[in-house]
Amino acid sequence: MNAQVRTMGFPGRYIQGPGALAQLPPLLLELDSCRVALLADATVRAALGGRIDAMLMSSQPARITFKWLDFPGECSVASIAALAEQAAACDTVIALGGGKTIDTAKGIARRLNARLVIIPTIASNDSPTSRLIVLYDDAHRVAGVELLARNPDVVLVDSAVIAQAPARFFAAGMGDALSKKFEARQCHLAGGHNFYGTPSLPTARLLADRCYEVILEFGAAALRQVAQERCPNEAVERTIEATVLLSGVGFESGGLSLAHALVRGFSAHPVLGRFLHGEVVAFGTLVQLVAEGRSRAEATEYATFTRRLGLPASFDWFGIEHMSVAELEEIARISCTAPYSVNLRPTIDAGGVRRALEVADFIGRSAAA
Ligand SMILES: [Zn+2]
Repeated sequence: MNAQVRTMGFPGRYIQGPGALAQLPPLLLELDSCRVALLADATVRAALGGRIDAMLMSSQPARITFKWLDFPGECSVASIAALAEQAAACDTVIALGGGKTIDTAKGIARRLNARLVIIPTIASNDSPTSRLIVLYDDAHRVAGVELLARNPDVVLVDSAVIAQAPARFFAAGMGDALSKKFEARQCHLAGGHNFYGTPSLPTARLLADRCYEVILEFGAAALRQVAQERCPNEAVERTIEATVLLSGVGFESGGLSLAHALVRGFSAHPVLGRFLHGEVVAFGTLVQLVAEGRSRAEATEYATFTRRLGLPASFDWFGIEHMSVAELEEIARISCTAPYSVNLRPTIDAGGVRRALEVADFIGRSAAA
């Protein structure tokens, strides 16, 4: 293989465990933060605001001043600009919430060149560790992607908080994470680039492989624990590490392929567009396995596993008994406009994607949970 320049990125620090939120005041002192903006929606603020207020006020009242910003519900250029104005004097931005709150905080930090602390309250996708900001328009359609100059300074994951969130989010995070092994591999085989604009280092693919193995080993037990006990145990900790850290570093440094290209087509569909990112990625991965030309047995094994995790392996899971050829063609056409759709060997065109959608749906329906 030719020697090539390769890049890998990480968040400045990753902290995870039950009660990790208590690390926030000393962290802010260490980061030399004086004026802090905290971004959250009303639900998250109601759940955690009082605790954070008390922590920050009792720690170093003279040193750290802070203000809350209300997440308006969409991560758009306009909402980021308005919030950045409210936070103009702040040197640190803290995100508390899910993917869109996190991306909005990234946008604010980018405009202010501020330090950035990410505190995910659900583990439903891979956004916390990365530099990516996915922007939406007022009609909630993806409008573009911006990049931070550097990865978040700190990703602080309180597993007790994550375990309190609905199990559906926890499962979706696994759906988003399971694809990374296959996508990083295909991106590598196709000579594609990661999100730093270079081929991946073997380390990125190692982490993406590990991400899959960890979920295979601990995912089902972790999901049961979150659904029934709503508090973390070892399986939950291992799974969060996979869905937040390994999945995030895996996609950003490993690159993406067809499973995530399909998100574009699925999102434009009137029914599929209403489901969580990780849910459609779970099915998109099955489509990718078919498109890669993997055996029926391999695809069935994957489909059976996703079903065990309560994730989709066929269209009926989404309440769609029959997809018309026109609908499948439209999904395939839009998916092929995603830049990483070319990161696949053998290469595939829209007709091939349509056929892979049909075969994946058939295999998924036949797979037993
Ligand atoms: Zn994703």
